[in-house]
Amino acid sequence: PLILFCLIGILSSFNIASAQKLTVQQKVEVLVKKMTLAEKIGQLNQYNGDWDATGPVTKDVGNKLDAIKRGEVGSILNITGVKHTRVFQEAAMQSRLKIPLLFGQDVIHGYSITFPIPLAEAASWDLPAIERSARVAATEAAAGGVHWTFAPMVDIARDPRWGRVMEGAGEDPYLGSLIAGARVRGFQGKGLGNLDAVMACAKHFTAYGAAIGGRDYNSVDMSLRTLWEIYLPPFKAAVDAGAATFMNSFNDLNGTPASANSYLMRDILKGKWGFKGFVVSDWGSIGEMINHGYVKDNYEAAKASINAGSDMDMESRSYINNLAKLVADKKVSVVVIDDAVKRILTKKFEMGLFDDPYRFCNADRENSVLNAPAHIAAAKDMADKSIVLLKNENNLLPLSQNLSSIALIGPLVKSKAEMKGFWAQNIGDESQIVSLYEGMQQAAPKANLLYAKGCAITDTSKAGFDEAYKTAMQADVVVMAMGERPDMTGEAKSRSNIHLPGVQEELIQKIMATGKPVVVLLMSGRPMVFDWTADHVPAILYTWWLGNQAGTAMADVLFGKYNPGAKLPITFPRTEGQIPIYYNHLNTGRPAHGDNDVNYTSAYIDLPNSPKFAFGHGLSYTTFKYSNLKLSKKSMRKDGSITVTFDLQNTGKYAGEEVAQFYLRDLVSQPVRPVKELKGFEKVSLQPGETKTITFTINKQKLSFYNDQLQWITQPGDFRLMIGSASDDIRLEDGFTLM
Ligand code: BGC
Repeated sequence: PLILFCLIGILSSFNIASAQKLTVQQKVEVLVKKMTLAEKIGQLNQYNGDWDATGPVTKDVGNKLDAIKRGEVGSILNITGVKHTRVFQEAAMQSRLKIPLLFGQDVIHGYSITFPIPLAEAASWDLPAIERSARVAATEAAAGGVHWTFAPMVDIARDPRWGRVMEGAGEDPYLGSLIAGARVRGFQGKGLGNLDAVMACAKHFTAYGAAIGGRDYNSVDMSLRTLWEIYLPPFKAAVDAGAATFMNSFNDLNGTPASANSYLMRDILKGKWGFKGFVVSDWGSIGEMINHGYVKDNYEAAKASINAGSDMDMESRSYINNLAKLVADKKVSVVVIDDAVKRILTKKFEMGLFDDPYRFCNADRENSVLNAPAHIAAAKDMADKSIVLLKNENNLLPLSQNLSSIALIGPLVKSKAEMKGFWAQNIGDESQIVSLYEGMQQAAPKANLLYAKGCAITDTSKAGFDEAYKTAMQADVVVMAMGERPDMTGEAKSRSNIHLPGVQEELIQKIMATGKPVVVLLMSGRPMVFDWTADHVPAILYTWWLGNQAGTAMADVLFGKYNPGAKLPITFPRTEGQIPIYYNHLNTGRPAHGDNDVNYTSAYIDLPNSPKFAFGHGLSYTTFKYSNLKLSKKSMRKDGSITVTFDLQNTGKYAGEEVAQFYLRDLVSQPVRPVKELKGFEKVSLQPGETKTITFTINKQKLSFYNDQLQWITQPGDFRLMIGSASDDIRLEDGFTLM
């Protein structure tokens, strides 16, 4: 037996050694040849792990482990922690071919240390910081046994009623594309195969954010030109950044569900864009096509989906139950199945899982990596950078450190778990989260902090109003923490009414009646409507859901230890009736500014056209002067360029950051172009008095667009360039001609 053992050892090391000389592609080919059809179909099947942080949550786990041993499962989602993933991987190692499982998880804004929600991070317009946030999340997730995050969500969202607006980068395709790239690079780090890299998944392909009426999962009806111009660019950016995977969306696009949309997956993604990764369906989205009325049963659903290019079935069980018969019936070709299998196996090889299926199951690494101090520091930095100063009359902010008493009022003052936001409710250690109250205690140890809750978030009781009023009366200044519950934005959390909920705005009115200086902090995953507050409260900070370091970041901004520099990545409407409202709209044949003249203008008779807060808006404790705009020339040829320079000066008394925004308008064009399009920005840090010269380059790429035939073209003519501090705060303008 000893000799036999040695012989097996020599042979298997020989096999491994010779296998190591093969390319990933060759290894995949060799493996696929050994696989039965059933084993191939197993690779396309993804099940829910049914485990949470504490262990199995259903009795089904045993059945799933058996299915894994039979080679019927390629991936599991929703199990984390090396102890748990190991159990599943051990089952996979008992299958005939020992093909390792992929473990997927929604790591949307942090893993153990929670970061600000994605929309909040987008407000930073700080690409390196956003990339770092994804890097930290990936490092922790990988240490926790996760191979694959279902992020970034790169859906453009123009409708704040849609609950998932919190999960993306807002309304703009240019900013959204840059952030998509940053997030993919952050998750995948130096590349798959590194122990701190997880596979990214650009989702939801596509146009999910354009659900009619902002109602989650609803139909999408749009021109292909709008699809290409507004909704596809961030997905293309994700491909360019090397995203390993894509996820379908739940919606139908012009009548065809995304999960069976061969135009999207075969023609665009895998065809024109040359995407080499794999596509996973959304949860049950293949089976949902029966409800859509697109197919009559799961057999037809599986056929439509695999043929359209959806490689892995997340929890519909349509593939595992129907593909073998579909192949036997010659409705699906083995070539199609092989292509899907190869795409998935390629990623498993690239992740190094065939070298060591347990390489992400290291308990020591998990212990040392999770919650590292550097991760907390990165979360704090990102939280600082995500806070938007919406309003600051008479420089009420920053608050003086010498205040003797501060009243903290509102339902979110002492909240901790809430600060995590929607996609992190079940992960992370709550004791690590800093509430606003705790943040203020640390930042102002000498001040007397008074507290009154005043009211609940959605409840309509005003029983706490009087106490809140009395508390406010005793203080030098009042800081109010108001907003939604974190579960009011997120998946399936669309709202028809996006007002500040409950009686909170009435509480703000009551506190304003004290005559005390009032600062309102607004916490939410979406733009809310708070018209009265916006008009009457002197200082307003939009703080979204900031994650673990929420309280520290809010306190630092309140006291000016950090000077806010964030800008809204999405338009804030005056009221729901204006939705959809976005800055890069077209002009009409009627006067553009119908605000004062309601006669036959394209306006509401009861509301101005302008939003409450525009895309790109966000103030600072300092002021910035834009001057000295220069164009290297006033006309250019298609293959030429114009260099634009201007000076940006910090004219106030605090050091600060400004996001200088660069917009273009094509004045006369067929088809017509938006009134403004973001084409560049630069986040600049300036000391008081300091001036920097900023440069933008205008080239063909920035002037091109899709025509009605979906050709990417440029048209000669006049353009307007606008540079400013927000889409509605343009400071410098000039024109030029494309010859
Ligand atoms: C969501 C996806 C998510 C998946 C897995 C779905 O309901 O739409 O974004 O990745 O569930 O949790």
